Amino acid sequence: MSTTMRAMILERPGSPLRAVELPVPAPAPGQLLLRVEACGVCRTDLHLVDGELPDPVLPMIPGHEIVGRVVAAGDGVDGFRSGQRVGVPWLGWTCGHCDFCRHGHENLCDAARFTGYQIAGGYAEYTVADARYCFPLPDAADPAALAPLLCAGLIGYRALVLAGDARRIGIYGFGAAAHIIAQVLRHQGREFYAFTRPGDAASQAFARQLGAAWAGAADQPPPQRLDAALIFAPAGALLPTALGHVRKGGCVVCAGIHMSDIPAFPYSLLWGERQVRSVANLTRRDGDEFLALAPRIPVNTEIVRFPLDRANEALDQLRRGAFQGAAVLVP
Ligand SMILES: [Zn+2]
Ligand SMILES: [Zn+2]
Repeated sequence: MSTTMRAMILERPGSPLRAVELPVPAPAPGQLLLRVEACGVCRTDLHLVDGELPDPVLPMIPGHEIVGRVVAAGDGVDGFRSGQRVGVPWLGWTCGHCDFCRHGHENLCDAARFTGYQIAGGYAEYTVADARYCFPLPDAADPAALAPLLCAGLIGYRALVLAGDARRIGIYGFGAAAHIIAQVLRHQGREFYAFTRPGDAASQAFARQLGAAWAGAADQPPPQRLDAALIFAPAGALLPTALGHVRKGGCVVCAGIHMSDIPAFPYSLLWGERQVRSVANLTRRDGDEFLALAPRIPVNTEIVRFPLDRANEALDQLRRGAFQGAAVLVP
């Protein structure tokens, strides 16, 4: 095995990632060393690169939808074998003893650390990860197709669970998360209504192809009142719009880590026991549930592959909405 690896690093928000050669990291106690097979490009990476996330650790290797093979284990790691395929999500470390951790809300851990933000991520040939946050993945699948499940899929799934048993669900922003959750909804026999940027006929067609009951522009009303809405686009103005289409007692779930400011809106939109909530991160339980469910559906991800050294191009295309589905880096 080589002792150095290629990686893409963020040195300064607002500037492109830089290709560098770094030593292959050694796994600390409790960690696995992984050879990265694929790493998804998430909108959160774009927020990090654009300087929209507070206090980034710099320089940083982004990437938190990592699919890799176990190369070595640090002291105290059990239950993994060499060569095994695992996935590493956004939540990369939790304290295990704060109130949140002890009560099943480790996604809210006060001391949580995040992959590709505070812990070096997967835009590299190798990475190390806390073995507690490595999920076993199927061997036979295409690793690039699995990558988007690790964040777009997982966060989307958590957002969907928070929407309860809603039958008619609006989805604002039809990108990586939406195209996965659309397949879950269809599998569960629920209806979804896809809202895209006005004029984005390609995304609307993509949503219809995945079974949308209706697809249109975000400034259009749906043909039916919605039981719930999931907002995957980072635009705060969508929140009052979505609330206006949700029935009494329904909820609007904001799934992104960053959103532009939400404009003021009349109380009447919230009245009627409507709820607004956000989704933060994930728990290992979400991971176990969703990664067991996805192959049973099965979820087929639509991916666009980029070589590792073209990460900047992948980010740029994501920003412009230039592709359907998800971008994945393949070292
Ligand atoms: Zn904690
Ligand atoms: Zn993500």
